[in-house]
Amino acid sequence: MADLKVDLTAPNGKKITLPTGLFINNEFVKSSSGDKITSINPTDESEICSVEAASADDIDKAVKAARAAFNDPSWRDLPATDRGALMYKFADLLEAHRETLATLETWDNGKPYSVAFNDDMGEVIGTLKYYAGWADKIHGETIPSTAQKFAYTLKQPIGVCAQIIPWNYPLAMAAWKLGPALACGNTIVLKPAEQTPVSILYLASLIPEVFPPGVINIVNGHGRVAGHALAAHMDVDKIAFTGSTFTGKQIMKTASINMKNITLETGGKSPLLVFDDADLEQAAKWAHIGIMSNQGQICTATSRVIVQEGIYDKFVEIFKKVVQETSKVGDPFHDDTFQGPQVTKAQYERVLSYIESGKSEGATLVSGGVPHKNVGDGKGFFVEPTIFTQVKEDMKIYREEIFGPFVVVASFKDEAEAIHMANDTTYGLGSAVFTSNIERAHRVAARIEAGMVWINSSNDSDFRIPFGGVKQSGIGRELGEAGLAAYSQTKAVHVNLGLRL
Ligand code: ADP
Repeated sequence: MADLKVDLTAPNGKKITLPTGLFINNEFVKSSSGDKITSINPTDESEICSVEAASADDIDKAVKAARAAFNDPSWRDLPATDRGALMYKFADLLEAHRETLATLETWDNGKPYSVAFNDDMGEVIGTLKYYAGWADKIHGETIPSTAQKFAYTLKQPIGVCAQIIPWNYPLAMAAWKLGPALACGNTIVLKPAEQTPVSILYLASLIPEVFPPGVINIVNGHGRVAGHALAAHMDVDKIAFTGSTFTGKQIMKTASINMKNITLETGGKSPLLVFDDADLEQAAKWAHIGIMSNQGQICTATSRVIVQEGIYDKFVEIFKKVVQETSKVGDPFHDDTFQGPQVTKAQYERVLSYIESGKSEGATLVSGGVPHKNVGDGKGFFVEPTIFTQVKEDMKIYREEIFGPFVVVASFKDEAEAIHMANDTTYGLGSAVFTSNIERAHRVAARIEAGMVWINSSNDSDFRIPFGGVKQSGIGRELGEAGLAAYSQTKAVHVNLGLRL
């Protein structure tokens, strides 16, 4: 439809024609309800554009398209090697459009352009290629049982997969979910977050060059309408979600209607432990990366720094210096910017409200704690990187996920207390341990209740390595070989060679 497009000029001068429809069956279509989402530039609060938002009826159309594609021989019977080749082709196409995709990502989300271009797009392309390589290496096994009988297993796709993604890494989260789902031969209905609907539409416009209609459908929409409709749909076989723990629980409940296969990657309040034998400069550097990257909007952010008593003051002094010298807040399209705006006004206000909470609970504010108003004409959702010290275990800022450039620093006496404090949370996503004692590093790593432990590092993530949480941080794993388990099922075929009972 000719009118479902908008001509845009991005803040970096790039001219982009963006489709604005719902991407169903390789076409952009209007929403049946007329509902729209308006995307806001968090840097100056201006409007970027409006895009179509899916109703429950639109979700039904997208699911039907995905089901038809799943049953179509052009996809179902495509040799796995050819499926992998399509994925490589798609990754190459995204590489060719890397600048445009990174521009839209930065404009809509607020993350620095250098990060969107190098890190996020690198992740997108790398993940798709990694899983393209897996496509023809997914196979079952043969299991002998008696002289007359054996069984073999088939690794088969799950079917129509709904994927609900968040706004902190819109393109990268899409790639984490599309990669393994496609490699295993599923078809997909993906719903981006309403805060960041733009970059994924451009990605969608490239899909018809590679994939048959209905294999990947991308529908923007509100969580309570479109997201809920996906979770509740009787013909969706699987739901994969990344977002808040609260929403993850709701989705889990809704998805029980037809017992959907489910993977969830939810919240965190990840600890970073610094023992008194650690290299404090390195610990401070990684602690900064672990919480202040991506404007602090990372589910694995090491937002609780817990430092051994004897080195507490020294660590705080070094850490504060690193944060103040490295976290340059500014326009995300400027080369020297480390930290852009928070994604939305709601997130900005949420972070500010936790600053008030920290002050009123009696923690010590040692850096930041105020909005940053020196970008452009003073608009935008910028917050100074914030450090609270002397934080106690019963404070809200110690226990709750804030999702901003906001870190608390508490202290521990000995290893036992460090482990106790690290595990004293409902979450279990990331964790970090700084020590020069190799024995202690591995001993503590084994005891921490988390899906990932970084030894003398923080927030490493790699498409070859499994990612996910324990406790209320999620169910299942993404990335690596483990990520394939979420998108395939094992069928056992029993064979009786003897034709006897
Ligand atoms: P946040 O609180 O940071 O906005 P959410 O976890 O609510 O994060 O959102 C993550 C994703 O989940 C988004 O794509 C959003 O639209 C979707 N979502 C929100 N509520 C629901 C719901 N009730 N059912 C399904 N999806 C939802």
